[in-house]
Amino acid sequence: DQDRALLDAGEALPTGDADGENRPVVAVIGRPNVGKSTLVNRILGRREAVVEDVPGVTRDRVAYDVEWSGRDFTLVDTGGWEVDATGIHLRVAEQAEVAVSLADAVLFVVDATVGATDTDEAVVRLLRRSGKPVVLVANKVDDQRTEAEAAMLWSFGLGQPYPISALHGRGTGDALDAILDVLPEKSAVSAYRSGGPRRVALVGRPNVGKSSLLNKLAGEERVVVDDVAGTTRDPVDEYIELGGRTWRFVDTAGIRRRVHQTRGADFYASLRTQTAIEKAEVAVVLIDAEESIVEQDVRVIQQVVDAGRALVLAFNKWDLLDEERRYYLEREIERDLAQVAWAPRANISAQTGRHMDRLVPAIEVALDSWDQRVPTGRLNAFLGEIVAAHPHPVRGGKQPRILFATQASTRPPRFVVFASGFIEAGYRRFLERRLREAFGFEGTPIEVSVRVRE
Ligand code: GDP
Ligand code: GDP
Repeated sequence: DQDRALLDAGEALPTGDADGENRPVVAVIGRPNVGKSTLVNRILGRREAVVEDVPGVTRDRVAYDVEWSGRDFTLVDTGGWEVDATGIHLRVAEQAEVAVSLADAVLFVVDATVGATDTDEAVVRLLRRSGKPVVLVANKVDDQRTEAEAAMLWSFGLGQPYPISALHGRGTGDALDAILDVLPEKSAVSAYRSGGPRRVALVGRPNVGKSSLLNKLAGEERVVVDDVAGTTRDPVDEYIELGGRTWRFVDTAGIRRRVHQTRGADFYASLRTQTAIEKAEVAVVLIDAEESIVEQDVRVIQQVVDAGRALVLAFNKWDLLDEERRYYLEREIERDLAQVAWAPRANISAQTGRHMDRLVPAIEVALDSWDQRVPTGRLNAFLGEIVAAHPHPVRGGKQPRILFATQASTRPPRFVVFASGFIEAGYRRFLERRLREAFGFEGTPIEVSVRVRE
């Protein structure tokens, strides 16, 4: 019949990778109060800026997907990070370092009404060393008069300063065009190079045992970096041999180096977590099993899912658990982690070494799912059955039909379903559930999007 013919037509669709996969990254950096957040909001087109006059406000999300002039990229906002007056210089530089290492290009924001400060100069040196393309914006140029101040910033040697007013939108389009000019098509930062060791991030809120786990895993098996073929030396990563292969643990310097507990440290930790997740292919989220699952645990997990990375949950400090705690932990997992019920779990103790051998198989399962591609024929055969048995409900006298589907990308698996009309979110979730039942996908987020064909 007609439906079947259309499902078969799905075979002919290209299964090339979606554009989003290697989305390049732009970081917005600069001193506090220069207007980074205002600029980010302007770029995101949010009239109601999140910018608060209350110091120390931290934001949950630091990375946003943006489209400008038909191009997609990720914008990393470092604006919500409040620093102390003392040590401001060092902290800004440190923050910038993380952001720059994560980025393919940098929007460096300077306050034109203040001019170049020592802190700005320190950031300039760091930017030069990084070799990353930089677009220098002179902010708070609200009118013609301030443009002369902006011109002073040629002295940085970073090329043309773009005078803008993030508040009023003046000149921001030109600055964005300039960023697009220097931004690579595909990210070199989060690019999934094949061949090299697979990249793992150990993340989780403070004190869950990340550095203990890293030490335990690295133990005697630390690999000398130069021995690993085809890798670029990155001092923040560590290569560890586990289960007969070499793994690249990313951003381990951030785990080993204790981050100072200053105001805004939460935001800083969150940025670091995001950096590690972006660089990794799979994230092991550590949870302190002895304590109740808290909002912050859930947030880190959500960061992994949002970034589209494979996910393993490691419940650490298992040596401290008694019968009663184990019971309550199960209830908490059911209640708070239901949305990632697909993630493999390992109940470990970084201290005693309990179940260390379960970690690698869990990571491998998650990565295999993350890489998995369902052939279009199989996908549509499966969809044909599902749709026949459970058609989309009739709405307003109409029944949207599922025409065919294709897996647009892997890492993570993304599916595009073509339909004859609007598909409700509930039905999309139903399809996602059935896809998981049919094809596994243990340990990976999957995405189902719908396109309407008239
Ligand atoms: P951040 O700390 O770098 O993220 O800076 P914010 O975006 O929070 O901005 C700091 C202050 O500068 C806020 O009061 C903003 O309203 C103000 N501001 C930001 N951009 C502009 C601008 O283009 N012109 C003027 N006059 N003020 C601005
Ligand atoms: P991080 O902040 O996530 O890197 O956490 P650490 O590795 O510094 O660990 C925080 C504290 O928890 C330290 O006192 C560790 O000794 C302790 N710890 C870590 N893992 C375990 C574990 O498996 N069992 C027990 N009992 N304590 C642990």
